[in-house]
Amino acid sequence: MDRDPHAPQGPLRLAIVGGGWAGLAAAVEAVDAGHAVTLIELSAQWGGRARGVEIEGLALDNGQHILIGAYRHTLALMARVGADPDALARRPLELLYPDGRGLRMPAAPAWLGFGLAVLRCRGWTLAERVALLRAATGWALAGFACDPAWTVARLCHALPPPVRELLIDPLCVAALNTPAAEASASVLLRVLRDALFGGAGAADLLLPRRSLAALLPEPAACWLQKAGARLQTGRRVQALAREGAGWRVDGEAFDAVVLACSAAESARLVEPLTPTWAAQAQALRYEPIVTVYMRCPGARLPSPMTALLQGPRAPAQFAFDHGALGGAAGVFAFVVSGARPWVEAGLAATGAAVLEQAATSFAPGTWPQPPTVLRVLAEKRATFRCTPGLDRPAATIAPGLVAAGDYIAGPYPATLEGAVRSGEQAVAALRSTLTHAIHDALTDERTAPPAARR
Ligand SMILES: Cc1cc2nc3c(=O)[nH]c(=O)nc-3n(C[C@H](O)[C@H](O)[C@H](O)COP(=O)(O)OP(=O)(O)OC[C@H]3O[C@@H](n4cnc5c(N)ncnc54)[C@H](O)[C@@H]3O)c2cc1C
Repeated sequence: MDRDPHAPQGPLRLAIVGGGWAGLAAAVEAVDAGHAVTLIELSAQWGGRARGVEIEGLALDNGQHILIGAYRHTLALMARVGADPDALARRPLELLYPDGRGLRMPAAPAWLGFGLAVLRCRGWTLAERVALLRAATGWALAGFACDPAWTVARLCHALPPPVRELLIDPLCVAALNTPAAEASASVLLRVLRDALFGGAGAADLLLPRRSLAALLPEPAACWLQKAGARLQTGRRVQALAREGAGWRVDGEAFDAVVLACSAAESARLVEPLTPTWAAQAQALRYEPIVTVYMRCPGARLPSPMTALLQGPRAPAQFAFDHGALGGAAGVFAFVVSGARPWVEAGLAATGAAVLEQAATSFAPGTWPQPPTVLRVLAEKRATFRCTPGLDRPAATIAPGLVAAGDYIAGPYPATLEGAVRSGEQAVAALRSTLTHAIHDALTDERTAPPAARR
C-alpha cells in the first residue's frame, strides 16, 4: 500500500481519558501501534461499569455480567493481555426456567441448534414453536434487518404470548436493557444475527467464574504497565483545549486524545469546542440495572444461570449461582434489567421483592434455609436506552480528538463488546483524522491568497 505523504509519521503522544473497557482496549491498541500512551482514570480502580467490588470479603462485581461467544474482540483482547481463559465458563446457550420450561441449544451450528432447541422446547405448543421458527426464518431471509423505526414489540407482535413472555421479552431486556415495547428491533436483530450466524460458538454463553476485574481490567493494566504506558488513577480530567495541531489535557501537551469517559463527561469536556457533538451525547437517556446478591449456605440452583418469570412483585429476570460457576459457594446474583420502576421503589423494597421471588420461584427444598440479602447494587446509568432510530454520537469529534465508549454510533447495544470495539476503532480513526487535518491545512495554505499566507 502507498504511504500517505501527509500522514503524521512516528509515534503520537496520546492521552486516553477513562479506564473502562473502551479506554483499556484503546490503550492496548495504541501501545501496540507504537504510540506513547497516558491513560487517566477518575476512580481508584480500572474497569468503569464492569469492575470488581469487594462485599464482605467476597470478590464480586458492581453488577452481574454475561458475555456471549460472538464477543470476538473482547475475547481476543483478553487473550492479548494474558487474562486467564478459565475465568469464563463456556456453556451452550440456554434460557431455562426453574420448572424446566425454555430453550436449551444442543451442540450444533448455532442456527441449526436454535431450530432444534425451538422444536424440543418444553412448555410451548407445536403451533407456538412453529410460529417462532417461521418468524426467525423470515428475519434470516430479510438479512436480520427491519424498519429502523420498529420496536421489538412491533417486530414480534404476531408471535404467540408465551413465546414473547418466555423468550423475546427476557432476551430483549438482557441484550438491550430496554423493555420490548421501547427497544430497537434493528439492534436486537443484529445481536441475533451475530449470535446465530457468527460462526462456531458465537451463541455460547460465557459466564464469569471470577470477578470482572480478573477478566480484563487487572491483566490489561498489568500489560500496559509492562509495555511502558503511563497509568494514572484517581484523577478526573478537568479541561481539554486545542493548541496548534495538538491538544492540552489539564495543561499537558499531547498530539491526540481519545475520550473514553462517559457520554456526559465527554460532552462536558468538548462542549466549548464542538457544542453539536456535546448536545448529541447529552441527549442520550439511560436505563438502570439492579443486582441483588444473596447468600444461602448449602443451596444450589438447577442451573448456573436460571431465567425467572417476572411479575408486578417479581423484579428479576435471571438468577446466577456463583458456587455452581466455581466462585463463592452459597452466593447468588439476581439481576433486574430495565429496572426503572424498581429503582424508583427504592433499594430496600427491590431487595425484599427479589428475596420473595427467590423463595417462591424454585422447587421446595432448593433453599435449605431462608436466603438473606448480602447487598443490593443499583447502577442508575447502566446503559443507554436503546430505542429505535437513536442518533448516537460519532467517534470523530475533531482532528486528533476521538471518542470511544459503548454509546458511540455502532451496530451494538451498550455492551462490553461494543465498548471494546469502539476503543479499538477510535485508535484506528485517530490517524486518519490527523491525516485529513494536515491535508486540509496544506490545501488551505496552497489555495489562500498570497497576503493570507504570511
Ligand atoms: C450492572 C450492569 C450490568 C451489565 N451487564 C452487561 C452484560 O451482561 N453484558 C455486557 O456485555 N454488558 C453489560 N453491561 C454494560 C457494560 O458494562 C458497559 O457497556 C461497558 O462496561 C461500558 O464500558 P465503557 O468503557 O464504554 O464505559 P465506562 O465503563 O463507563 O468507562 C468510562 C470510564 O471513564 C471514567 N471517567 C469518567 N469521567 C472521567 C474524567 N473526567 N476523567 C477520567 N476518567 C473519567 C469512569 O470512571 C469510567 O471508568 C452492564 C452494565 C452494568 C452497569
